[in-house]
Amino acid sequence: MTLVKNLRLEAREAPPSGIYPVIDYGRGKAGLIPLWAGEGHLVTPSFIRDAAVQGLTNGETFYTYQAGIPDLREALARYHTRNFDRTFSSDEFIVTAGGMHAIMLALQATAGKGDEVLYLSPAWPNLPAAAAVAGAIPVPVPLREGSNGWICDIDAIEAAVTPRTTALFLNTPSNPTGWVASHDDLRQILELARRHGLWIIADEIYSLFSFEGRRAPSFYDVMDAEDRVVFVNTFSKNWAMTGWRVGWLNVHPSLSKIFENLVQCSTSGVPQFLQRGAIAALDEGDGFLAEQISTAKTARDALCKILSWAEGIRFSVPQGAFYLFFSIDGLKDSKEAAFELVDKANVGVAPGSAFGRAGNGYLRICFLRDLKQVEEAANRVADWARAR
Ligand code: PMP
Repeated sequence: MTLVKNLRLEAREAPPSGIYPVIDYGRGKAGLIPLWAGEGHLVTPSFIRDAAVQGLTNGETFYTYQAGIPDLREALARYHTRNFDRTFSSDEFIVTAGGMHAIMLALQATAGKGDEVLYLSPAWPNLPAAAAVAGAIPVPVPLREGSNGWICDIDAIEAAVTPRTTALFLNTPSNPTGWVASHDDLRQILELARRHGLWIIADEIYSLFSFEGRRAPSFYDVMDAEDRVVFVNTFSKNWAMTGWRVGWLNVHPSLSKIFENLVQCSTSGVPQFLQRGAIAALDEGDGFLAEQISTAKTARDALCKILSWAEGIRFSVPQGAFYLFFSIDGLKDSKEAAFELVDKANVGVAPGSAFGRAGNGYLRICFLRDLKQVEEAANRVADWARAR
């Protein structure tokens, strides 16, 4: 006890994940369909794995470029140029140890002790947790659920800004709600950030998992090069690489050296052989990604259809990412419900309370899965809701 008490307060009080207790409880249960974590069921495709194995075989076991190997930074520039309608150059990219590391570095650069970081809630919990561990103050601004989906209230963001606010974290398409910011939302948020001198940390990692159009609206579409926007991103979701822990930052080239140095001061770089796999993902992975998006869309439609008939279950149809965030009439304790779903329905879901206070009363299902499994899980959840 005495040892713990002597640790930094921010470390001691970091909120534990609200999803892992449910995963630990249900892990390994026979016949359970696990839809609790933010990942699909597929192993990383072999063309990506083979490229990493080749790097290892070639003896790429030394310290390497802090900002990422030049070939990968160039591949990132090609990928962005292909998808985001302007020309990108390799010196705008810094390779990180996953999306989470990119977020940590973006926070380290923009929000210190006592600074306030705004974010929309319900939200993926690691963001506010990382801000708090860094000594900053995460300030949730609620997304509202209207009859036509989730709504971002720009006035509420404006009202939450104080002289201590330094950064605004925006995740679109959103985990867990599936909300997608419109171009108009992004323009207004950018204008607000400009007016108050805030940094925007743009988390558009699900950008290509958009169920309308080629991709979701992006800050790239509305910003000027000199705007204070730092993009955080990851290989995890697009190419089934959650376990690799490789991601990236996209920043104005004048900031690259600073972020490169923050890599030096944290992980000291990403293993070179993993970066070989990442290059294969970017250069040869469009086909795999298109299949993933199509799997997610088919599963979303099936899931929404089944649950729309279920008693007491309500949701806004997700417009992006691969999660369904649904509420259940009269549900008070979403954590208890998630445990009950393991016991009674043999389905693993994430409790909404894991995504902040605004998420209580909700449950999250990840639908980036084989259609049959998603349909089976949806039927089990519907039966469970009926029997409650
Ligand atoms: N941002 C969001 C919105 C996420 O959902 C996740 C992963 N669940 C991340 C960032 C981090 O990705 P990574 O697994 O690469 O750390």
